[in-house]
Order: sequence, then structure tokens, then C-alpha cells
Amino acid sequence: MILKKTLSILAVFILVVACTTNPFTGKQTLALVPNSQILPMAFQQYDEFLNTNKVITGTSDANMITNVGQKISIAAERYLTANGYAGYLKDYKWEYKLVDDPAVNAWCMPGGKIVFYTGILPITQNEAGVAAVMGHEVAHALANHGQQRMSADQLQQVGAVAGNIALSNDPKNQNLFNQAYGIGSAVGVMLPFSRSHETEADRIGLTLMALAGYDPIVAAQLWERMSQQGGGAPPEILSTHPSNQTRINNITLWVPEAKAEAAKFGVTKFKK
Ligand SMILES: [Zn+2]
Repeated sequence: MILKKTLSILAVFILVVACTTNPFTGKQTLALVPNSQILPMAFQQYDEFLNTNKVITGTSDANMITNVGQKISIAAERYLTANGYAGYLKDYKWEYKLVDDPAVNAWCMPGGKIVFYTGILPITQNEAGVAAVMGHEVAHALANHGQQRMSADQLQQVGAVAGNIALSNDPKNQNLFNQAYGIGSAVGVMLPFSRSHETEADRIGLTLMALAGYDPIVAAQLWERMSQQGGGAPPEILSTHPSNQTRINNITLWVPEAKAEAAKFGVTKFKK
């Protein structure tokens, strides 16, 4: 009896320590690894990625990525502060880089480390298109979707225990972990996000881009262009972010809500 009681108290305790609140949805989510452990790892891997890829600086495209990135990160900070999460981004070290690579891809590592590939620029087309991709990718990072990216089976493989992950020395497990968090040199082969995480990132992303002064309807147009790229060589981003009509319809539906949210912050003009 006492054992049973102890076990149930322990179970509650484990649930508490292993959960965190998603500041955008208010939902409790699993936090397997604290940011204090993930972020230094992500920062190191990001630097390694930049050192082994061709980073473009000083061009109008590179400046556009930085410019949009700064606006999106300011939007995230304003939104979180206004909603009672002022300290949420304190360990973030935002960085926005353009790399010379024909892959149609872009990502945001935990901690605000963003990369755009030149291959995605013909699809984003302009600043607002970049903001749509950036808002979405940053949303995944802010909502800690990486932490929940692995399936229960995979978690068992990497030795996840309540509130923490004990990574074994098995490189296979390390890879799985890196793929889930979008860190590691093989960032191009991230595990796909679940449909619910995609939906969540779309919705949060719309708010971020609107708050940054970009018309959220551009996101619907962007995913439309993305899905037309299918065929012979589907964009890499589509392997982790499958695009479909439901998604585009949802985004269109959420545009007024994103604009209304931005209006609360005094943003009423939206660049297309
Ligand atoms: Zn996504």
C-alpha cells in the first residue's frame, strides 16, 4: 500500500518535471531535455555547419535573410513578453545565415539558429515569402517540437528516462537524437514533424509573420508554390514538411486571426 502510494507520488513528480508549457498553445508538452543541455549542443553544431558550408554575406539576399530574421525574432520576443513569458527566450542566441546550396531547404535549430539555402529563394520569391518560411521554422523551435519529434519506440532506443535522456555511445542513437532536434551535421535529414506539429507551427508562424509586418496570406501562396515543385526532385523541405490542400486551406482560414493578433501590437500594415 505504502509502496503503491509512493509510486503514484513518484509518477506525478516525474510528470511534473518532464513537462513544460507551450507558451503559444498553453498545452503541456514533454520536455525531455532542458534547454541548458540542448542549446550549447545546438550552438556548437550550428557553428560546425557554417564552417563546413559556404555562407553568403554582404549580398542583398543575405541581407534580406538577416533583416527578416531580426523582425521575426523581435516579433517572437514581443509576443512572448506580452503573454507572460518574458524570460522564455533568454538563452536564445539568434543568428540568420544564407548558405550557397541548391537544396530547397531552410531550418531553425533550438536556440534561434537559422539557415536558409539559396535553393529556396526562387520559391520564397521575396521578403514576405522568406518571412513565411522563417515564421514557420522559428515556431517549431519556440514550441520545442524537436523534443517531441521522436516516437515512443525511438525514445526507448536512445534511453529516454523521465525528465532526461541518457544518450548511449551508440552513434545510431546519437544520430536519431540529432535528427529529432535538427542538430548535427546531417541537418538535411531531419525527422519529419508530425501533422499536429506542422499545424501548430503554421498557426504560430502566421502570427509571427503578421506581427513582423508581413501579410500572412503569403504563407498560403508559398506552400502552394512549394507543392507545385513536387514531381521529379521534390524539395528537401517537403520531406519534413509535406504540403497539401488541407494545410493551405487552414492557413487561409487563419489569416484574419493572425492579423487581429498583430493589430493588438499596433501592426496593421502588412507587406506582401
Ligand atoms: Zn514544419
